Amino acid sequence: MVLTLDRLNAAAPDEFVALLDGIYEHSPWVAQAAAPMRPFRTLAQLKRALVVAVREAGRERQLALIRAHPELAGKAAVAGELTAESTGEQSRAGLTHCTPEEFARLQQLNADYNAKFGWPFILAVRGPRGTGLTRAEIIATFERRLANHPDFEFAECLRNIHRIAEIRLNDRFGFVPRQGEQVWDWAEQLARHSDPGFAEQGQLTVTYLTAAHRACARQLEAWMRECGFDEVHQDAVGNVVGRYHGTDPDARMLLTGSHYDTVRNGGRYDGRLGIFVPMACVQALHRAGRRLPFGIEVVAFSEEEGQRYKATFLGSGALVGQFDMAWLDQTDADGITLREAMTQAGLRIEDIPALRRDPARYLGFVEVHIEQGPVLDELDLPLGVVTSINGGVRYLGEIVGMASHAGTTPMGRRRDAAAAAAELCLYVERRAAQDGDSVGTVGMLEVPGGSINVVPGRCRFSLDLRAPNDAQRDRLAADVLAELARICERRGVQYRIEEAMRAAAAPSAPPWQARWERAVEALGLPVYRMPSGAGHDAMKLHEVMPQAMLFVRGGNAGISHNPLETITADDAQLCVDAYTQLLEQLAAEPQP
Ligand SMILES: [Zn+2]
Repeated sequence: MVLTLDRLNAAAPDEFVALLDGIYEHSPWVAQAAAPMRPFRTLAQLKRALVVAVREAGRERQLALIRAHPELAGKAAVAGELTAESTGEQSRAGLTHCTPEEFARLQQLNADYNAKFGWPFILAVRGPRGTGLTRAEIIATFERRLANHPDFEFAECLRNIHRIAEIRLNDRFGFVPRQGEQVWDWAEQLARHSDPGFAEQGQLTVTYLTAAHRACARQLEAWMRECGFDEVHQDAVGNVVGRYHGTDPDARMLLTGSHYDTVRNGGRYDGRLGIFVPMACVQALHRAGRRLPFGIEVVAFSEEEGQRYKATFLGSGALVGQFDMAWLDQTDADGITLREAMTQAGLRIEDIPALRRDPARYLGFVEVHIEQGPVLDELDLPLGVVTSINGGVRYLGEIVGMASHAGTTPMGRRRDAAAAAAELCLYVERRAAQDGDSVGTVGMLEVPGGSINVVPGRCRFSLDLRAPNDAQRDRLAADVLAELARICERRGVQYRIEEAMRAAAAPSAPPWQARWERAVEALGLPVYRMPSGAGHDAMKLHEVMPQAMLFVRGGNAGISHNPLETITADDAQLCVDAYTQLLEQLAAEPQP
């Protein structure tokens, strides 16, 4: 029988625990601890309560929970001693049909893993889509995780246990995250297009106006039409624009979207998720034959990452009138100018100025994006509300000391440029951490012409400082520059430093941030507010209209700009649900 929230909410505590038997392997205490957190309005809220129960249980019980799980394709599986749930999962993943080599490899991995960590390897073998990882994927994940730090791996096992529980709960509730699966499948299908040199290696790279990039645009255009958008076209910079009219076709519109280009060997969700989520919402509206009091304009931005040409945010920049015609003469690695690439792709350069949007025609801009960081994953939170896109400042500097003999120059008489830079690195780390939400990085560090037996006479470095607002960023920068001066003074070395880039912070518009917060709350999830450390298309739209972003957790500790970037179909569904909530809120508000 299918389980319902009503039944769970009404159950006596013992019955509640019995109804959730087997969700957390041999560990009824998890359900016991979650029982007092009732009533649950949503399945997401129930899942969260169970996660909280485990988070608050302390390390001993968490370790017992991990140890309650069987080894993958281990002795218990072979002897047929697993729970019904585990048997189903392991056989669905094909672990009961291993070749002798695969079986031997898994036994070796199990032994190595146990020897290193002291608990069994836990992996949600039904994977992010819920349909099962391949044996090759399982073995590759196993090998990769064997190298992790024990603290990280402990948490990763718990995260996998929560994912296993999520899928078991879905089965028991008869719940299928259909729109999330749709989003996931779109991401998978779009990732089939990749630039030459990368496609052959199974890597995803889609840079501006390559054949793969053009194929993505055509595919997005086709999907938008299938979803039921009223107007779909590609614009003069290659953005794919879909409009779904409101009840009044002249009503103001919600502007939304993200980018479909990728970094080299990137992930499938960076940018693209922010296109697919509103597409899924429009698809649902169209299927229901429903119009909102406002229109929805989804823009799949053609370029954000600045990979092929130096120009970045080319897609969203064009919408705010920032396409710089001087960019047209930039060349790519093969000497092809941007102008040639655009002309070859059939884009009409003369139409670019007309892409500039009139802010009066829009309600505002919202963007859904993967977090691209470890915070939400670590907190076991699927969604985060962005408070601000961090402002940043970058510098390139050089410290000049005195190159001298490494053997004959006594320690007290050195003018070591690299040691001075090292002091600065440590200061940046300490000072940025003081703010709690600032970040500072020395990403480039170089001793030009250095030798193993020479005290470094020169050291070049870069500085990247970011904070949620410009004042905080400026205080951070001022302190770092002052410390640089002090270090160099004390060490008797010279320095020069140049500002290379400065970008203003883009704080979320409070009413729009509040809409995302209410949307997350409506799903039964806690509202978690966080700044965005990375730049996004919303930064550009910020210059002309109110904006706010929603983040979704990435698996694998939120890794991004990397093929390991991943999200689950369930989290994608929560994005669609939150987005739907935001649309409902807007529809209920008096239209301006
Ligand atoms: Zn992105």
